[in-house]
Amino acid sequence: MIFDHLKNAYLYHSMHPLFQKAFDYLASNDFNKMENGIYEIDEKNLLAIVNSYETEPASQRVWEGHRKYIDIQFVAHGTENMGHSPIQSATVIQAYDAENDFTKFEATGTEISVPTGYFTIFYPTDVHKPNLVNAQPMQIKKVVMKVRLPEPDLQLTFASNNAHKLEEIRRKLAGSSVGILGLSESGVHEELSETGDTLEANAFEKANRVFSKFGLNCFADDTGLEVEALHGAPGVYSARYAGEGVSYEDNVKKLLAEMMGKTNRKARFRTIISLVMDATEYRFEGIINGSITENPSGTQGFGYDPVFVPEGYKQTFAEMGPDLKNQISHRGLAIEKLVRFLKEEVLKK
Ligand code: IMP
Repeated sequence: MIFDHLKNAYLYHSMHPLFQKAFDYLASNDFNKMENGIYEIDEKNLLAIVNSYETEPASQRVWEGHRKYIDIQFVAHGTENMGHSPIQSATVIQAYDAENDFTKFEATGTEISVPTGYFTIFYPTDVHKPNLVNAQPMQIKKVVMKVRLPEPDLQLTFASNNAHKLEEIRRKLAGSSVGILGLSESGVHEELSETGDTLEANAFEKANRVFSKFGLNCFADDTGLEVEALHGAPGVYSARYAGEGVSYEDNVKKLLAEMMGKTNRKARFRTIISLVMDATEYRFEGIINGSITENPSGTQGFGYDPVFVPEGYKQTFAEMGPDLKNQISHRGLAIEKLVRFLKEEVLKK
């Protein structure tokens, strides 16, 4: 999010080819004399929504986010508060509505007060709640410049609703023209089954289901912990090693019990990503070798993180924290291979 006075708008011209045009429009019109309405400034690529209204308490307003357009919200008269939350801290409560370019979120954000002559810029990563009361309800005249983002050259669905996994891959693809949507963001609301007895089969089953039933190019992942002294167990059954619906702690306890007295503690995490694109499967594997500790240690992460020490390190995954873990992990490696493939083999064609 950006917050500044219109006098400093030139600082932001280089961020988008249409920003200068948008700011010139804001600087050269007297909106207090202009009729409310939607004005096309550069066809559908740049719109001005001129509106007047009374500010409302935060409880009456919703958190919103957009995908196709950046918002430049300019206060032409009055002072209103605007809430902001990074998308990573917000939860989708109503799936994306493509026609209105609108997602409804739940969030706890930060409020800033935006007086006459100031603007905010909200990117798709900025969940926001505008039109809020400052000291008391006030009549506002506002112009929202809608600036169209370039269409991604390639749109893929990731067969997951896990916000952390989605963020990890979006970060690695930042600046490229690949758009990634999660499962529910793609309009797929069914639970995807995993009936295979290998990671490869499960990942393919999920990606292929989304491709064949919904016609969406899709990738899916599956991960397992493979312990040498247990002949590769828990492997594909890592999530339900101690039974259906068990907790991570139950699985860790069972693993440590099975490993009692074993001197060979070697293990590896393995992730398979299956990409089904135009009916062809592409597969990517990420492996990290390490060993199983005698006791759990560390509080971060999830799953078997407290008992897995990667080769070359002294800490468990649960002790090292997400930044380092994501850099070296099985999933990170598989994602990197997928990203390299997309950049070098798909987008260059
Ligand atoms: P999934 O395929 O990502 O759902 O992973 C299956 C299971 O493997 C999870 O329920 C965890 O028990 C375990 N697992 C996957 N990734 C990790 C990891 O990074 N650390 C610890 N355990 C993991």
